[in-house]
Amino acid sequence: MKRTDWAKDEIESLKQEGRYIPIRTIGSPQGPYVRIESDTYLNMCSNNYLGFANHPDIRRAAIEAIEKYGVGAGAVRSIAGTIDLHRQLEEKVAEFKHMEGAVVYQGGLLANIAAVPVLVNKQDVVFSEELNHASIIDAVRLSSARKYVYKHMDMDDLERNLKEHRREGKKALIISDGVFSMDGDITPLKEITELGERYDAMVYVDDAHGEGVLGDHGRGIVDHFHLSDRVDVEMGTFSKALGSMGGFVSGSSSLMDLMKQRSRPFLFSSALNAGDTAAVMKAISILEHDDTPLKRLWSNAEKLKNELADFGFDTGKSKTPITPVMIGSEKKTLELSQLLYKEYKIFASPIVYPTVPRGTARIRLMPSAAHSPDDISIATEAFRKAGRSLGIIS
Ligand SMILES: *Cc1c(COP(=O)(O)O)cnc(C)c1O
Repeated sequence: MKRTDWAKDEIESLKQEGRYIPIRTIGSPQGPYVRIESDTYLNMCSNNYLGFANHPDIRRAAIEAIEKYGVGAGAVRSIAGTIDLHRQLEEKVAEFKHMEGAVVYQGGLLANIAAVPVLVNKQDVVFSEELNHASIIDAVRLSSARKYVYKHMDMDDLERNLKEHRREGKKALIISDGVFSMDGDITPLKEITELGERYDAMVYVDDAHGEGVLGDHGRGIVDHFHLSDRVDVEMGTFSKALGSMGGFVSGSSSLMDLMKQRSRPFLFSSALNAGDTAAVMKAISILEHDDTPLKRLWSNAEKLKNELADFGFDTGKSKTPITPVMIGSEKKTLELSQLLYKEYKIFASPIVYPTVPRGTARIRLMPSAAHSPDDISIATEAFRKAGRSLGIIS
């Protein structure tokens, strides 16, 4: 008998509810195909949008940085962990994003946890979109600000909340995902900035799934809507389209200065490694000069959605490459994912509660610039056969 035996019961109930997620272990680089145990699978569920996770030039940049700087940053940014590469990357990100300044963190989740508590505290009020990423929800909790949740994409509801509650806070912050990671729809950022201006609320957007996907040469959601002088904070990750690791916050120079004095992951968690930092810098340089991977991503996404729709699948209301195949039932979703994996060698993870609301389980497909059009057809054909045999489509 161990004092942690309660964990066994919780695992058992997850299994009963069909919410126990099998965790696959990969033995190859990320790419259109991955090695899992002794087989090769078509990879349809990683966020490696542009194929940068194993890009030869980006790998080389990381290797060269490791040769020059070694593997570990050795300390937090504020003590002895800041290297010239961090400063260069911060300048590059700010320039790429058309923002005044940027601060680099060790991940996107950490960037949110860093920034929100600097922006607001218990005297302030936050208006948070209903489907915001878990890291925003946690960041808002950590800030101790009073929180009001507005309905998904619903600007009337946001305005109603602002009208009713703006005065409860000294400062106010509206915070939203740019692209919603599980649905692929895009937040109406222009309307949000207008409401922010009208009600004196700062506007913060999380561009994790917009980076390298939306805007001119993948500059992201703020560029997509031409709002760089009106959005207060654009935050993002380097771990999705940019292919490696890390995150950032961008905004005014003085706000960035304050982030370096106050944000806890900057002060209390060791800095991003040189290899990752150099890799991100290279990824941005490639994007600036060449948007063919971006175009390939979008044409693969269009093909994927069209073929799935032709076969009778519901792919939701995505406006981006994120392609949710909506199933509903948690159990059915796990069954479909299993069948695709076992019979068709398609790697497509199930997404269930609590990542998405109960009863809206789905398989979220992520096309990539690394896929060929034939890879996309192989995936959709497998969905057609597996979907029929489970009675999901007719
Ligand atoms: C993935 C994601 C993050 C976290 O980014 P990491 O770099 O993986 O920590 C934050 N916000 C959103 C919306 C995301 O999709």
